[in-house]
Amino acid sequence: MGHISVIGSCNMDLTVEADRRPLAGETVMGKRLIVSPGGKGANQAVAAARLGEEVYMVGCVGRDAYGSLMLDALKKSGVKTDYVSVLDGVDTGTAHIILAEGDNSIIVLKGANDRVSPQVVDEAFDIIRTSDLVMLQHEIPMDTIGYIIDRCYEEKVPVMLNPAPYMDIPKEWIDKVTYITPNEHEAALMFQGMDRDEILKSHAGKVIMTVGSEGVLYGEGNEVVHVPGFHVPVVDTTGAGDTFNGAFAAGRAEGLSIRESIRFANAAAALSVGKIGAQGGMPWRNEVEEMLS
Ligand code: ATP
Repeated sequence: MGHISVIGSCNMDLTVEADRRPLAGETVMGKRLIVSPGGKGANQAVAAARLGEEVYMVGCVGRDAYGSLMLDALKKSGVKTDYVSVLDGVDTGTAHIILAEGDNSIIVLKGANDRVSPQVVDEAFDIIRTSDLVMLQHEIPMDTIGYIIDRCYEEKVPVMLNPAPYMDIPKEWIDKVTYITPNEHEAALMFQGMDRDEILKSHAGKVIMTVGSEGVLYGEGNEVVHVPGFHVPVVDTTGAGDTFNGAFAAGRAEGLSIRESIRFANAAAALSVGKIGAQGGMPWRNEVEEMLS
C-alpha cells in the first residue's frame, strides 16, 4: 500500500438536466437535479483510495451541508480527511452545471478552495513530507501550488501535477515536479512550438500524456512509448482523467514501473467511462484486477 497526499479542490457538482438551456432573461423547467461530490482534488483522492492506497486529502470546505456531504463521500471511499479544514464564513466550492442538448454549460464558484493557502499546507506538512507521491491539480490558488512544488522539491518528495484546468505555469514547475499529466490539448498549450514526439522525448519519464480512448504516450530514453487504452462501451467519460491520475499515482506509490502504472491506470479509467458520474464511475481494486487478469 502506498501513501499519497492530494492537495486540491473539493466541489459539489449540482447538475440540472433540461431539454434546452435558458436564453438570457428566460426561465425554463428542468427535468432533474443531480447532486454529486466532485472537484479534481477530491476525485483523484477517491480514485487512489478505492484502489487500496492510504490517501490523505488536504483542502478546505465550508461549514455547510455540501461540506458535510463532501467529507462523507471522501470517507466512504477510504480517503483520510483529517487535513480537510472546515471553514466558517465561506461556502464549499460548487460547480453549477446545465446539461441540455447533449452539452454542459458550467459556472464554478471556488468558495473554500480559494482558501487552500501555504498555511493549510504547512499544517499538513508532516503527512505530506512522508508521502510516496503528492498529487496536485490547478483548482487551488496558483501561489499555493508553487509553494508546495518548492517545498516538496527541497525535501525530495515526488510530486505529480495534473495541469487541469489549463493555465500557463512557470517552466520551473515543470522542471521540479516528477510527473506532469496533461491531456493532448493541455500538452499542446504547455509546450507551444514543439510537436508531440519532441515534448515526450525531451521530458522522458516525466510527461505522461493521456490521449483519450487511445490510452497514453510517454518517453522512455529516446523512444516514444504508446500504452494502448482498453476498448469499452462508453457511458460517460466524466472523471476519466481524474481516475487515470489517481490510479497512475497508486501504481507508482506501490512501486509499479511507469509502464505498468499506466496500464493499471488505463484499465481503471476505462472502467470509469462505463458508468455515470465522476466519483460514481470510479472502480474499486478488485474490478481493476479482474480487468487486467
Ligand atoms: P476528462 O474527460 O476526464 O477531462 P482528460 O481529457 O483529462 O479526461 P483523456 O485523455 O480524455 O483525459 O482520458 C484519460 C484516460 O482515460 C485515457 O488515457 C484513457 O486511459 C482513459 N479513457 C478516456 N476515454 C476513454 C474511452 N473512451 N475508452 C477507454 N478509456 C478511455
